[in-house]
Amino acid sequence: MVYACGLIGKTLEYSVSPVIFRTFCEEAGVEGDYCRVELPTEEAFRDFVKCGLIEGPFVGFNVTIPYKEAAYALSNVHGSDAERTGAVNTLSIENGKLRGDNTDVFGFVRSAQEHLIDAARNVALVVGAGGAARAVLAALEELGFTRALVLNRSLERAVRMTKELAHRLKLPIETVADEAAVRELCEAGTLDVLVNATPVGMKGGAPGMPVSESILDLVSPHGLVVDLIYNPPETNLLRNARRRSIKNLNGVGMLVWQAARSFEIWTGILPDTKRALQRVNEVLA
Ligand code: NAP
Repeated sequence: MVYACGLIGKTLEYSVSPVIFRTFCEEAGVEGDYCRVELPTEEAFRDFVKCGLIEGPFVGFNVTIPYKEAAYALSNVHGSDAERTGAVNTLSIENGKLRGDNTDVFGFVRSAQEHLIDAARNVALVVGAGGAARAVLAALEELGFTRALVLNRSLERAVRMTKELAHRLKLPIETVADEAAVRELCEAGTLDVLVNATPVGMKGGAPGMPVSESILDLVSPHGLVVDLIYNPPETNLLRNARRRSIKNLNGVGMLVWQAARSFEIWTGILPDTKRALQRVNEVLA
């Protein structure tokens, strides 16, 4: 069998997902290939899933910005992490039905767990309220966090997400209007994890930092700063965390682990991730 898979989203110029998929095929000894398909509208997204996957030759798709919530709505059956987040990044066909999974949750858990100490899993600040933020919040619940704050450019979207996730997750989540509100809720050194789930700092995207540098004062000495961005490998946020000797992590690990779980959904094989991690780091260096 040849596993024909692909990534669908709006702008995919910098995606390294084909490199990861091809490395997994070599590792697992299966034949397959992976293409990137840029689609300009939600209607084009739905049409492509119909003719490419439901009626067509593809085995599965990864879904990225901005179609993860549309992919959830389109799927007939959902995996548990898709239910917990209301977002889908992996589509497949199961018993003739379109199945939606969210493997970003697994990706975040696998990449972050070894960098978090057990005693420092209380308060988290997540910046962003899109598909990735939902996956991070579900992952933080799984990692044992007890409270999460969400800060987003558009307050309305953050409030909507928080309300929806209150029905899906047990993790208490509070929306904060601005950085002043974060400072009111957290004293210096009390944040256990800060996660950037926005594209701010991404190559070719909005420059700068997703939060002011002074927000890093709130992070605990045992804490962790995570940027889901992997290109560039060190964003301004991570550089500033490193300069303050705060542990920090980019999005490469999450990217490779979510891809491994998607690969398992399509082929039945969870591949070894070492070589894919190495290749992605080489490509991005
Ligand atoms: P999304 O659904 O489009 O959401 C983007 C979020 O970022 C929204 O909350 C948006 O705020 C905010 N945002 C966008 N541009 C901004 C700006 N200029 N200033 C401040 N906030 C801004 O995207 P997503 O799927 O959640 O992805 C978010 C990031 O995570 C992307 O960089 C993506 O590449 C990364 N990611 C990485 C992995 C990985 O495996 N490493 C996996 C998934 C995602 P508004 O609501 O105000 O528009």
